[in-house]
Amino acid sequence: MSPGPVVLKFGGTSVADAEAIGRLVRHVTNAHQRTRAVVVVSALSGITDRLLHLAAAATVTDDAALASGLTELQERHEAVAQLAAPGSAELVQEIAAEIAELRNLLHAVGTLKDASPRTRDAVAAFGELLSSRIVAAACQTAGLPAVRVDPRRVLITSDAFGCALPLTDEVNAAVAEHLRPIVAAGQVAVTGGYVGATTSGVTTTLGRGGSDYSAAILGAALDASEIQIWTDVDGMMTADPRIVSSTHVVPRLSFEEASELAYFGAKVLHPSTILPAVSKNIPVKILNSRRFDGGGTLITAASPVDEPLAALACKRHITVVDITSTRMLMAHGFLRRVFEVFERCRTSIDVVSTSEVSISVTIDDASRLDALVEELSAFAEVRIEHDMAILCAVGDGLRRDPRLATRILGSLEQFPLRMVSQAASRRNVTVVLQDSAAAEAMNHLHETFFARDVAVSGSARGRA
Ligand code: ADP
Ligand code: ASP
Ligand code: MG
Repeated sequence: MSPGPVVLKFGGTSVADAEAIGRLVRHVTNAHQRTRAVVVVSALSGITDRLLHLAAAATVTDDAALASGLTELQERHEAVAQLAAPGSAELVQEIAAEIAELRNLLHAVGTLKDASPRTRDAVAAFGELLSSRIVAAACQTAGLPAVRVDPRRVLITSDAFGCALPLTDEVNAAVAEHLRPIVAAGQVAVTGGYVGATTSGVTTTLGRGGSDYSAAILGAALDASEIQIWTDVDGMMTADPRIVSSTHVVPRLSFEEASELAYFGAKVLHPSTILPAVSKNIPVKILNSRRFDGGGTLITAASPVDEPLAALACKRHITVVDITSTRMLMAHGFLRRVFEVFERCRTSIDVVSTSEVSISVTIDDASRLDALVEELSAFAEVRIEHDMAILCAVGDGLRRDPRLATRILGSLEQFPLRMVSQAASRRNVTVVLQDSAAAEAMNHLHETFFARDVAVSGSARGRA
């Protein structure tokens, strides 16, 4: 059997304008010359936000905002299309048809005053539907045998609008029918990320940042030989470059390390991306779409052996919920009761720490906090603290060297820590502290373990 295709995913900034799309075409051409390629694209940068604003504006029948928003949207896509695929009358027509459909949809949103998650998904999907048309046309203009595939034909999902989950059997069947033949014919399939559809064809999305996940889902269904995430940074960095200025690329990560980092805030990878890759043991690469000289981060099952820490991650503005009950003392069933409340309120917990009489948890989504507090208050005392942050040091090395955790905590001694946790996987050390201290703590930790001239912590892995 010949090796599977490479899936190349390009994020919003990597398709932001004609210049970026020109670079994309070069990358796809390079891949197509070597092997078979499938392309997954995000919406043009900023467009998903614009679409969601338009959906909100439509419900308050803000006609002027709606009309100008739609015109702006159409003009931006037309301008990019004209430069990326000059003279393609078909593309101009396709964009006009998509915009007309969007206008009708927004009109219906205004009439029904309905911006439910289902409607918001239908509106948000236009970003990727439009960008994939432009990118497919740009590839064709450059002479590539590109075929655009509507993501709703292949990415079959649950009906959990706003955070839909892939239905593996249905995706496999749809990919076999609509994608594999294109790949087998030596053509380049181009599709939109983030967007899917239920088995009855209703448009869904995988949640913000979901195009990475789309690429991994399709990659697994295609038995891809590699999943490439092309973005605006050089790879997975040793910390969030928006918080720490002296970061450098982490050349190698294990699947587990990448998962932990993505889960705890490394936005460069959607937290679910690794799952499908693991299921088929497909290497994932994170690459800078502005560069043509290799590099990047390679994520595989193998754990880089000689390194203590891989990288740091940070989740800002989270909420801590303290649940105290003197009755908890030796009472079995208490934790079950607590977690059932979170389940009923559909709120997921990130970090947990317990003592004999209390349990502290962190939550990212505080939208159902009132209901949570009300239910918990029926059997415990509840205290809430907003504006906290989770700081997480990740590395398979933590499993090998028990002293590392102590060193991490020691280096944070000047910061009051609200919670401390190390899970059974012993792949991360996680602390919770005031959000106002997060940036300083992150920089301090980074300086201690990743500064290039620091030999003691020796994160040679960071020396790309
Ligand atoms: P794309 O549009 O290509 O999907 P994203 O904005 O979703 O790109 O993700 C890339 C961004 O993730 C970077 O610009 C960076 O600001 C942020 N980021 C946060 N943590 C990290 C990290 N550890 N390594 C790299 N980037 C990170
Ligand atoms: N366009 C979507 C978003 O902005 C999905 C993505 O870019 O991954 O969230
Ligand atoms: Mg992203």
